[in-house]
Amino acid sequence: MYGYRCEFCDGIVQSTPVKSEAFKHREGTVSLEDLVIGVCERCGRRYYSAAVLHKAHEAAVDLSRHKGRIKLGEGPLEFQKRIRNEWP
Ligand SMILES: [Zn+2]
Repeated sequence: MYGYRCEFCDGIVQSTPVKSEAFKHREGTVSLEDLVIGVCERCGRRYYSAAVLHKAHEAAVDLSRHKGRIKLGEGPLEFQKRIRNEWP
């Protein structure tokens, strides 16, 4: 799903497994765990597939619905809310 050319340089976007990745959302920042994202081999720019973005959106919606009462590691989506000053 990755492997295409970076939009910002001549590098190739490589599939890269990550332990956790934070996504900024208007409800806060959502972290998804154990994902495969795309990272440019040259400039390090991160890319997300539609499936990953969809998952992040669902997690954020869920998060706002539960008003932060979700426990870590609960449900099919493992996520937590993190307050971050900058992104990424
Ligand atoms: Zn690049």
